[in-house]
Amino acid sequence: MLNLHTHTTRCGHAEGTDREYIEAALKAGYTEFGFADHSPIDFREMFQGNPRLRKEEVYSYFEELNSLRKEYEKDIVIHIGFETEFYTDIFEDNLKTFRDAGIEYLIQGQHFTTFADGKVVPSAMPSDNIAYLENYLDLLRGGIKSGAFTYLAHPDLIHYTGPEEIYIERMTAFLQDVKASGMQLEFNRLGYFDQRNYPDERFWKIAGSLGIPAVIGLDAHYPWAFTDLDTISRIREYLSGLGVEIRQPVIRPL
Ligand SMILES: [Zn+2]
Ligand SMILES: [Zn+2]
Repeated sequence: MLNLHTHTTRCGHAEGTDREYIEAALKAGYTEFGFADHSPIDFREMFQGNPRLRKEEVYSYFEELNSLRKEYEKDIVIHIGFETEFYTDIFEDNLKTFRDAGIEYLIQGQHFTTFADGKVVPSAMPSDNIAYLENYLDLLRGGIKSGAFTYLAHPDLIHYTGPEEIYIERMTAFLQDVKASGMQLEFNRLGYFDQRNYPDERFWKIAGSLGIPAVIGLDAHYPWAFTDLDTISRIREYLSGLGVEIRQPVIRPL
């Protein structure tokens, strides 16, 4: 299995050294994996308090991981990416910073939706406000259209508590767009393990009925996420029950 979703302590809410993640991946039999910590977002001050890298850490993040990559190159292939949000007004600037630093790939984790009046709403906050759902899906569509992302991390993060038929209708339309675009969708190990609001069974049932496959992302915030093979086999069984095929993620170079 290839996992492209691994965090580091730089984001402020993960455990274990970089080396411990690599050692855990080796122990679990991985021959290749990717780090994708939470990128900085230089956007509307309210993001500053959210745990993620600071902008000045982007270069050291790459350099430190790159030196471990070289050290381990005989044993394992390591990729260096970021998990980031998509916001039209700042995305090009962010891309420039990431590319300058040597970042190889991005996954889109849309943890917040934003509004023209400056309002920022956490995507996982339970709400029956349809505008949050629509804005969230618009931002995912924007990310897909940008062509910059390898895959959508926890695409089912939005916690819409309104009428079921609205969720089904909006998600079906969204997933039809996803299918047409060929964008890869992540089934998130962390949310599954923690029994969070995502992965959302309604979402994956629609994906299954449309014949859209999943890639598994560990969303590792601790090294033992790699060696917890039991959860991976439960996920395989679960997705097979929903008719969702599992594929290996393919990196789209930045
Ligand atoms: Zn995180
Ligand atoms: Zn995330």
